[in-house]
Amino acid sequence: MHWLLEAFLDLLFPPRCVGCGSWGKWLCDNCVKAIRFLEEPYCLFCGKPLPYWGTCPSCANELHALEGIVSVAYFEGPIQEAVHLLKYRGRTALASPLAELMASRLPHSDLKAEAIVPVPLHPQRLRERGYNQAALLAENLSKKLGIPLLNGALERIRYTRSQVGLSALERKENVKGAFRADPLKVAGKDLILVDDVCTTGATLEECGFALKQAQAGRIWGLTLARAP
Ligand SMILES: [Zn+2]
Ligand SMILES: [Zn+2]
Repeated sequence: MHWLLEAFLDLLFPPRCVGCGSWGKWLCDNCVKAIRFLEEPYCLFCGKPLPYWGTCPSCANELHALEGIVSVAYFEGPIQEAVHLLKYRGRTALASPLAELMASRLPHSDLKAEAIVPVPLHPQRLRERGYNQAALLAENLSKKLGIPLLNGALERIRYTRSQVGLSALERKENVKGAFRADPLKVAGKDLILVDDVCTTGATLEECGFALKQAQAGRIWGLTLARAP
């Protein structure tokens, strides 16, 4: 079915669970129980479980633009299905319950910020898709957390191919220099950078790098899902 039609049907009918298809909620209580959340505490860069909040020895050797990346659940099961529907099937109504999940599972790290910035799409990709799923999540998070959303603070200035199927190194190369941040909007501000999925963290790091060049303060990555 065309995604526009599905999105239209969403307006007419009550939501159905993306995990089991039952009526009533986008994610029913049973499917929420089945979600594999990231075990806290974990390494703030690779997500590996640690006995403390911080950076594991192999990640500590690298320079990071970000303070860390906080993710809610593993990219699998109903979460993977939900991201797919949100990103490729026009099911924008999912942004609110998924942002709710992100807000409610914000772990006890010292993730604090003055503003929220979504990972941007290139204008061409935005035209193709019609919306930016990261921006929808960020918008909903902004409302739920009471932290202002910074629109247009970060832009994608280079069209890059999808990161799907690329190695960690290729992912880094693919997004290198792809972003630019506006110092007038971000200078001196602590920020939360929002995306749907973190795989190697290359995109978030590159965004963080652009924000740092624009004199941003501390920057945290926050994603709904993380590659297992
Ligand atoms: Zn369900
Ligand atoms: Zn690590």
